[in-house]
Amino acid sequence: MVANSREDDKLNTCQGDKTQVQESTNQPANFIQSIINQDLETNVYNGRVHTRFPPEPNGYLHIGHAKSICLNFGIAARNGGLCNLRFDDTNPSKEEVEYVDSIKDDVKWLGFDWGNREYYASDYFEQLFEYAVKLIKIGKAYVCDLSADEIREYRGTLTEPGKNSPYRDRPAEENLDLFMRMRKGEFPDGSRVLRAKIDMASSNLNMRDPVLYRIMRTTHHRTGDDWCIYPMYDYAHPLSDAIEGITHSICTLEFEDHRPLYDWTIENVDPEVHPKQIEFARLNLTNTVMSKRKLRKLVEEGYVDGWDDPRMPTISGLRRRGYTPEALRDFCERIGVAKSNSTVDIALLEHCIREDLKAKSPRVMAVLNPVKLVIDNYPKDKVEYLETENNPESPELGTRKLPFSRELYIERDDFFEVPPPKFFRLTPGKEVRLKNAYIIKCVDVVKDKASGTVTEIHCTYDPDSKSGGPNSGRKVKGTLHWVSADHAIQAEVRLYEHLFPDENPEGEEGIDFQSRLDKNSLQRLVSCMLEPELGKAKPGCRYQFIRLGYFCADTGRWKDGKPVFNRIVSLKDSWAKVRKNG
Ligand code: ATP
Ligand code: MG
Repeated sequence: MVANSREDDKLNTCQGDKTQVQESTNQPANFIQSIINQDLETNVYNGRVHTRFPPEPNGYLHIGHAKSICLNFGIAARNGGLCNLRFDDTNPSKEEVEYVDSIKDDVKWLGFDWGNREYYASDYFEQLFEYAVKLIKIGKAYVCDLSADEIREYRGTLTEPGKNSPYRDRPAEENLDLFMRMRKGEFPDGSRVLRAKIDMASSNLNMRDPVLYRIMRTTHHRTGDDWCIYPMYDYAHPLSDAIEGITHSICTLEFEDHRPLYDWTIENVDPEVHPKQIEFARLNLTNTVMSKRKLRKLVEEGYVDGWDDPRMPTISGLRRRGYTPEALRDFCERIGVAKSNSTVDIALLEHCIREDLKAKSPRVMAVLNPVKLVIDNYPKDKVEYLETENNPESPELGTRKLPFSRELYIERDDFFEVPPPKFFRLTPGKEVRLKNAYIIKCVDVVKDKASGTVTEIHCTYDPDSKSGGPNSGRKVKGTLHWVSADHAIQAEVRLYEHLFPDENPEGEEGIDFQSRLDKNSLQRLVSCMLEPELGKAKPGCRYQFIRLGYFCADTGRWKDGKPVFNRIVSLKDSWAKVRKNG
C-alpha cells in the first residue's frame, strides 16, 4: 500500500502514559492547603511538608485511591515537600506481593514519583514493639486475657459506658512479662491482646482501651514467620507516620473518630514529630462499587476478567480500557476535596477522557457491524488512496492515505430499505456522502432469500463529488463511515456498559450487590472491519473511531493475533449536555 511512513508513525504512536506531573502552583486552594498554609506561617514543622500515600496491599488500587494519590503527591509537590509511598502491611492474612507490585505500577503510571521513599509498616515492627514496651512501662498499656467476644461485651455501646477489664490493673512488670511471652509464641492465637489503657467511659468508642497487638500465627509477605504478634492499624499508622517524619497525615473521613486515638498514641510514645491527621471525603462514584472487598469478590467469583477487566473502577482496569493518566488526574482535580461525603456522576469521568482524547487521538474508520456495499459504476480494479487528515483539530497529527475501491463495508444500521422518519442515512434512491470520499446513491439491494437479510447494497457514485475536489461542497444530509473491503483488517471490538445499571448499586441493605450486576455489560463484536492502518496499532494506542467513540487497542490477550479494541467511551457526552442545559 502507498503510504507515507512518517505519517504512519503519527497515527500509531501511543504517546502519553509516561507523563510526569508538572504541578502548577495556581490550582485552587482547598481546605487542606489552608491548614498547611497556617502551619507554614506558624512554622510548626520547620517549614516542612511531608505526606504519604498509605495503601494496604490487599487488592488493586481503584479510582478512589487515585484521588488520594493526586491529593497526597499534589500537596507535597505544591509545597516543595515530599510524599512517601508506604505499604500499610500490618494484617498479613489478606496481603500479597502481587498487590504491592500492582500498586507501584499504578502510582507510577498515574505520573507520581516517590523517589527512594518506598516504605513498609512491617519495616517498623521492631520499633513499634519497643514503643509498646514503653507504653507498658509508663502504665499506658496492659495485657488482657478477655476473649474477642468478651472485649466487645465490655466495650459498652454509644449510649452506655464500657466496663473495665478485670486485667486492666495488672502491674507493669507482669504486663511486660506477658507481652514478651506473647512475642515468643507461648500463647495460642487470640488468647491475649495488648490494649491501651485510656478510658472505658469515653464517649468515643475508639478510646475505650483499644487493642494494640494481637496474636496471629500467619506468615507475613515480608517478615515471614518472624512475628506471631501483629500491631493494629490504629496503633501502627500514627507511629509509622511519626517514624517517617510525616507532617500531614491525610486520610478519609471515616477516620475522624479515630483521630483522638491517633493523637493519644503519638503523645504517649512521644516521638520527635507529631504529625497532624486531616480527613477528607472519600470518592464515591455512581454505577459501580468501590471497596476492595467487593471488587475482590467480583474477581474471585469470576464476574469479571481479573482486576484489570476494562469495566472495573480499578486503575489497572481503567488503564486497560484506555483511560489516560491525564484524564484521571484532571478528574481528580475537578472533583476537588471536601469535608462531606458525596457521590460523583461517572459521566464526569467519561467527560474527562473525551476532553483529553478529542484533540490528541487520530480519527479513523471502523465498521463494527459490516454489510457489503458495491459501487456499480466504479472500475473493478481501481484503488484510490484518499488523503485524509488524522485529526482535523490537530494538524500536527498529519495525514494518511485511505484506500477506496469498488467494494466497501458500511454499518448495517446505516441502511434502511424502508426508513423510519428523519432517517438521513442510506436508503434506496437517496444520496449520502461517504466520509472523506464520494457521494453515492443506493440503486439496488441483494437479500438472502431465506432470511430476507440484506447481503449487499448496490450504489452508484458521483465521480465529481470527491471530498476536497472542486464539487466537494455539494450538500447531502448524511455522511457515513466506511472501509474498503479488500483492504480492511478484521478485528474484535468490545463494547462496555457500566457494571451496574443502578446509580447506587450498594443501595438497600440486604440485597447482595452481585445480583445487581448488568449481565450484558460486555458485548464482543468479533467480525468488525477496520481501516488497514489499524493493523499496526500498538497495544495501548487510542483512536477515535469516527461516529462510534474512542477506542483503545487492548494490552492483553489478543486472540489468534487478531487485534482487539476496547471502547473507552462513546462520543455522546451526557455530562457536557447536563452542564449546558442546567
Ligand atoms: P477500600 O475501602 O476501598 O478497601 P481502603 O481505605 O481500605 O479502601 P487503603 O489501601 O487502606 O484502602 O487506602 C489507602 C489510602 O487511600 C487511604 O489513605 C485511604 O483513605 C485512601 N482511599 C481509599 N479509598 C478512597 C476513596 N474512595 N476516595 C479517596 N481516598 C480513598
Ligand atoms: Mg484500609
